[in-house]
Amino acid sequence: MRRPFVAGNWKMNLNWEQARQLVADLKAKVRPDPPLDLAVCPPFVYLIPVGREIQGSPFRLGAQNVYFQEKGAFTGEIAPSMLKDAGCTYVIIGHSERRHILGETGDLLAKKVRAAQKAGLHVIYCVGEKLDEREANRTEDVLARQIDEVFGPDVSPTDITVAYEPVWAIGTGRNATPQQAQEAHRFIRMRLARVYNDGLASGLRIQYGGSVTAANARDLMSQPDVDGALVGGASLKADEFSRIIEATIAAKNL
Ligand code: PEP
Repeated sequence: MRRPFVAGNWKMNLNWEQARQLVADLKAKVRPDPPLDLAVCPPFVYLIPVGREIQGSPFRLGAQNVYFQEKGAFTGEIAPSMLKDAGCTYVIIGHSERRHILGETGDLLAKKVRAAQKAGLHVIYCVGEKLDEREANRTEDVLARQIDEVFGPDVSPTDITVAYEPVWAIGTGRNATPQQAQEAHRFIRMRLARVYNDGLASGLRIQYGGSVTAANARDLMSQPDVDGALVGGASLKADEFSRIIEATIAAKNL
């Protein structure tokens, strides 16, 4: 069975004191040996100190972005090996804010995924359609393209998690219905089976992201192809995030 995975994407939020307090509160609220994988993804400058604070807890460290080159004249960028040095286990690649605000393309994301895996990082690769695309019944076309342009036999299926994040649901308070999430996750898994095979695709985790809260987590996480959550806003509140984690454990009968 797939082990559920819940990750918090802090985006460009919190100062150091708030970050330290959030980790302390999470450590107090989340059971020490939960039956799922957990991560927090702070801004780059807080990776090392947050890594220190989560020591001895079930949380692992993730970065929100990475560059594909190993070193050189790339002002402002961070190499995969630097994230490893900073203690990261995970890196988010292809978040919709990077695709649509920062203009990242499928070609660039394909390079980032390979470079991150080569450095030993586990990738959280985000996909998802925009509202106009859903309304035009183009959701599956968009998801197929976002999967096809990054996945290939040279991408290790055991070192990547897909996050299905419909753009219209991110930070809007309007989550996908459990049925919409399940349909999209099922489609993504079928598309991955074309790249690998049924066995590998059925072992690959697919998180749902988009306005996940303690109130809606249990219904979303109960869906058979939903293997956890990538959480933005609600991951900044220890009580809410810990209740999402507990809801995931309950939904999966763990
Ligand atoms: C995200 O940042 O990936 C996200 C899903 O944000 P939110 O939970 O705030 O919608």
